[in-house]
Amino acid sequence: MEDTPFPQDETPIPPNIRSLKDLINLVTGKNDQPAASSGASGLADIRPFPLLAMVGLEELKLALLLSVINPAIGGALLIGPRGTGKTTAARGLSTLLPMVERSSCYYGCLPEDVEIGGIDAVCPDCARKYAEGNLSKIVEPMRIVELPLTSTIEDVIGSLDERALVHDRTRIKRGILSLADQNLLYVDEINLLPAQVTDAILDAAAQGTYTIRHGAISATYWSRFILVGSMNPDEGSLRPPIMDRFGLRVFAHPLEESRTRLLAYELAADYRRNPHQFVSRYEVETEAARQEIIAARKALPGVKTGDRIYKIGSEIIKELGIKSLRAEIALFEATRAYAAAAGREIPELTDLLTVAPLALRLRRGDSAHHRPADEEAEIDSAIKKYCE
Ligand SMILES: [Zn+2]
Repeated sequence: MEDTPFPQDETPIPPNIRSLKDLINLVTGKNDQPAASSGASGLADIRPFPLLAMVGLEELKLALLLSVINPAIGGALLIGPRGTGKTTAARGLSTLLPMVERSSCYYGCLPEDVEIGGIDAVCPDCARKYAEGNLSKIVEPMRIVELPLTSTIEDVIGSLDERALVHDRTRIKRGILSLADQNLLYVDEINLLPAQVTDAILDAAAQGTYTIRHGAISATYWSRFILVGSMNPDEGSLRPPIMDRFGLRVFAHPLEESRTRLLAYELAADYRRNPHQFVSRYEVETEAARQEIIAARKALPGVKTGDRIYKIGSEIIKELGIKSLRAEIALFEATRAYAAAAGREIPELTDLLTVAPLALRLRRGDSAHHRPADEEAEIDSAIKKYCE
């Protein structure tokens, strides 16, 4: 959505992570890291289970990191059975998030509201501050805002505050979509939400703003968030057009090997015994990975997809018979993010081919006719033609 410079963190980038591959290796425990668990602890998440400490889930972690590096990808949908670590991974991402600029006002007012909608677009207090040249933003770490499954449409978009009678802006109680501006919105079990709520979330995510109206009263809010949804396909499907609106779709497969499962159990037990101590074991690596993400976000505007990548990407999309134009957006933006993380200004073919399954699977409206395993094989064979 945005290619603008991000607020910068000061800490220098540690030299041990130079590419997204290094980062993924670090995150997935391949660099002699103490590997660890994908088990949800069930504890109150005072300090979430570190993403770096999770065993397996390589594709899922890659999708989360790419989504944070480049919000224009359009977020990610995490698909898998209960207990495979989807929510633990999304929460574990919180310590890897960069700094962002946000509204400091209870009503969500921003200087750009005045620039677009005039002085009445902000609350009276912010209007005064704007006139004095003092309407500023706060710089804070990006947060993970979780949408409860019980959320109503009023919770999501906002509702009329009957007690406040001063100004349009103050008469509306902000919804979760506005609170998620510049953050990451995590929607667990998105397939179980009412269609009206899902549509509101997807529209707001796509447009970056939304307007709420109650009779003559209306207010417009920013909703520039990274959308991450999760679903357990055993509990219900997701309409194909909804599936298509996520930039990336990844599977969270249960760990199969007994030894890996045992390791996951031991690490989850360690975390449960002393979350603080467990999390602090990963602090250095977590900060290194966070700096890598910040560096990639900063480098992203300079990454240009060349003609060859466009041509090959378009050919793969055509061969798979994908009609949706979102395929190109997700594929090329994810390729740029992957290249940015690897320190390349011009994406290579491997960057494109690595992200292609994530960006292209489950995008055909007739997915009911394609078993996931068949579709994976089809994508795999389309990609192999270009492997050097
Ligand atoms: Zn305000």
